[in-house]
Amino acid sequence: MTVLLYEEALAAYDPVLGLEVHVELNTISKMFCGCSTAFGAEPNTQVCAVCLGLPGSLPVVNAKAVESAIRIGLALNCTIAEWCRFARKNYFYPDMPKNYQISQYDEPIAYDGWTEVVLDGETYRIGIERAHMEEDTGKSLHVGGVTGRIHGADYSLLDYNRSGVPLIEIVTKPIEATRAEAPQVARAYVTMLRDLLRALDVSDVRMEQGSLRCDANVSLRPVGTTTFGTRTETKNVNSLRSVERAVRYEITRQAGVLAGGGRVIQETRHWHEDSSITTAGRSKETAEDYRYFPEPDLVPIAPSRDWVEELRATLPEPPAAKLKRVSAEWGFTDLEMRDVISAGAVDAIEATVAAGASPQSARKWWLTEIARRANEAGVDLEQVGVTPHQVAEIQGLVDNGTINDKLARQVFEGVIADEGSPVEVVAARKLAIVFDEGALAAAVDEAISANPDIVDKIKSGKVQATGALIGSVMKQMRGQANAARVRELILEKIG
Ligand SMILES: [Zn+2]
Repeated sequence: MTVLLYEEALAAYDPVLGLEVHVELNTISKMFCGCSTAFGAEPNTQVCAVCLGLPGSLPVVNAKAVESAIRIGLALNCTIAEWCRFARKNYFYPDMPKNYQISQYDEPIAYDGWTEVVLDGETYRIGIERAHMEEDTGKSLHVGGVTGRIHGADYSLLDYNRSGVPLIEIVTKPIEATRAEAPQVARAYVTMLRDLLRALDVSDVRMEQGSLRCDANVSLRPVGTTTFGTRTETKNVNSLRSVERAVRYEITRQAGVLAGGGRVIQETRHWHEDSSITTAGRSKETAEDYRYFPEPDLVPIAPSRDWVEELRATLPEPPAAKLKRVSAEWGFTDLEMRDVISAGAVDAIEATVAAGASPQSARKWWLTEIARRANEAGVDLEQVGVTPHQVAEIQGLVDNGTINDKLARQVFEGVIADEGSPVEVVAARKLAIVFDEGALAAAVDEAISANPDIVDKIKSGKVQATGALIGSVMKQMRGQANAARVRELILEKIG
């Protein structure tokens, strides 16, 4: 199989995207029972007859989940249904003990909305097909195989703690005309959605824990044509950067198939983070395969217009308005702001500024030190292991002269390695800049006597040669000296 180069693929084909994002709500209890939704508990300790699908058990709708669904719909400019029902989606899977999932089918609670994403200064309008409520499934753990998938596994373990956790599935309309930017638009959309859901306070939106999951649909059509090609659906891409990379790969793969005279097969595909490719999963079911029918155990939901308007009043500011506001507050240039947006660092910087750092210093750390570590580890900024509060604390230590930027990098390293708070890391690693004038003076004396030629240069008026002596002193002090004070001392002693 040939995979085309990205540029070749784009020259011949026009990508069309469709993004399905599943978000786990942060309700205290599950969608249809009172079990806890807390993440990370011992397997099968947060279960009951309802979420285990035992015969005779009856579901009851979680009102808070409906409220969150309506707020998400409103924030995405959707129409909120005056009346809607749940539906049974029938299929067998061991992590779904009822053999059907309670979902919504042709009567979603929210539909026909839109939102906007900003990429490199350009605004893309994304249509929202629907946002509907459903329940999450349990979790399977396949043991013994190489890939962690069921093929080749010795046995499988099932954890039903997640079974019945409320989910909202947000489905876009086909996203067209993004051309070569398609992968970045996909990433920008999921980033915007993550920030919006966080601002709504309806989910903890942690992709690495699966509370925000993205399935990316990609199809290609020859440039200049309008009929959609056959699409594939890449499942459960679990970081923002993977969204971009999976879409990009799928464009080059499908282009290779089409250019070779083949046909793209409608199927789900799995994204492999390590090898950066997708592989075939199951051939995609159609809606008929699921034999949807209205859920007879639940009453319809008919949110009153008064309630909907009450909820509308609780919405956070729209993403575009927020970008405009913070951009003005922070005083960033357009270019700086673009970099911040494309790095998905808006919320992180906002939280760091709220914790006391200046906007420029917050931007500096998130876009350099932390971005570099995220890249190296192949994760998103939030997954590096340092919080906005810790970033502000580290910058505070720089501001009060305890450390400098260079030493701060070692503090980041210690914080990420779980050695404690920034202050604790500075103490444990003995990183604080030395204010001991005696030690400093001794180091300066030593540098002067070891470098007579440099001293001569300085005496003859070549003040820039001071840099070499400062470097020598800083080396002796293991970087833990105030360079400006070192310079003063050198000039005092020579002059
Ligand atoms: Zn339960």
